[in-house]
Amino acid sequence: MNTKIEKIANRVIEGEGISYEEAHFLMKIDGNEIYDLLYWANSIRYNTFKNVISLCSIISARQGSCTEDCRFCSQSTRYQTEIANFPLVEREEISEAVERGKEYKSNCVGVVTSGYSLDGSEDFDRICKDAYELSKEDGIPIHTSIGTITNEMAKKLVSSGVEMINHNLETSESYYPNICTTHSYNDRVETIKIAKEAGLKICSGGVFGVGESVEDRLDLAFRLKELDVEAIPLNFLSPVKGTPSSIEKPLEPMEILKIIAVFRHIFPDKELKVAGGRETNLRDVQSWMFYAGANSTMIGDYLTTSGKSSDDDLQMIRDLGLTFEERDRHKN
Ligand code: SF4
Repeated sequence: MNTKIEKIANRVIEGEGISYEEAHFLMKIDGNEIYDLLYWANSIRYNTFKNVISLCSIISARQGSCTEDCRFCSQSTRYQTEIANFPLVEREEISEAVERGKEYKSNCVGVVTSGYSLDGSEDFDRICKDAYELSKEDGIPIHTSIGTITNEMAKKLVSSGVEMINHNLETSESYYPNICTTHSYNDRVETIKIAKEAGLKICSGGVFGVGESVEDRLDLAFRLKELDVEAIPLNFLSPVKGTPSSIEKPLEPMEILKIIAVFRHIFPDKELKVAGGRETNLRDVQSWMFYAGANSTMIGDYLTTSGKSSDDDLQMIRDLGLTFEERDRHKN
């Protein structure tokens, strides 16, 4: 057992934060010692969450036709991809997604729309109305991922009963121009600050495997820590044909487990969610994501790709001796 990892992990369990240098040391762990890191990440997860796993599901409520140029995204009009484009779905479809979410033991359903922002659009008003009515009727929180928001939008989301928004920083500030040039990193940070100020909880993480360095991963983690976000989704690139990121070499499963484990050391008590790309990238070691420290994952389909069967996911969690979280985790 690597005693340096053990010392760092024990300090984390005792409630001390880790430094950038210590996190960097953990990110550089290699070979058999990755298993030591996983052991300790699992211990930190267990210390906070015991055996409880949180699930969430999403609906792609408006898809494609986005004018932005995020290199990894199949929804940008700048790339030739084969995804379906559609305007905001009817309330009925969101309602069906909520029903499916309840069936899959999700404790929230995220309504996700493509594009930079819904500011000033009828779609925003519709989403607020649907979120208000559906969360009241079905008792399941509706979260939104609708691009950048203004102060007014944040207040309206709060009054519509939305308690959390997703808005990913994606990567480090310095690497960001390599994955998107049509809006700035600061736009993303501002949306998080505006949402927090209005009382919304924040789900914000990133995408890995887009050519970023170890330092970019750590810069992202420490920026999210500074912003004090509640949930951190970790997405692992599944290159989509037609996007500039399609040339990226997929990350190795052990590298992905290491990223999850280091994030768990940095965020001992936050919801660490393995989101897009787990099936294609982790393959047979998917169930190891919990041993690497994740306490949360997405269930059901992703935005533009299908997920593993939900029954298989629920079975995987049961087989590991883990249980599901009650539905009101993010309620005040
Ligand atoms: S990630 Fe969002 S903003 Fe970027 S291209 Fe895709 S839909 Fe547009």
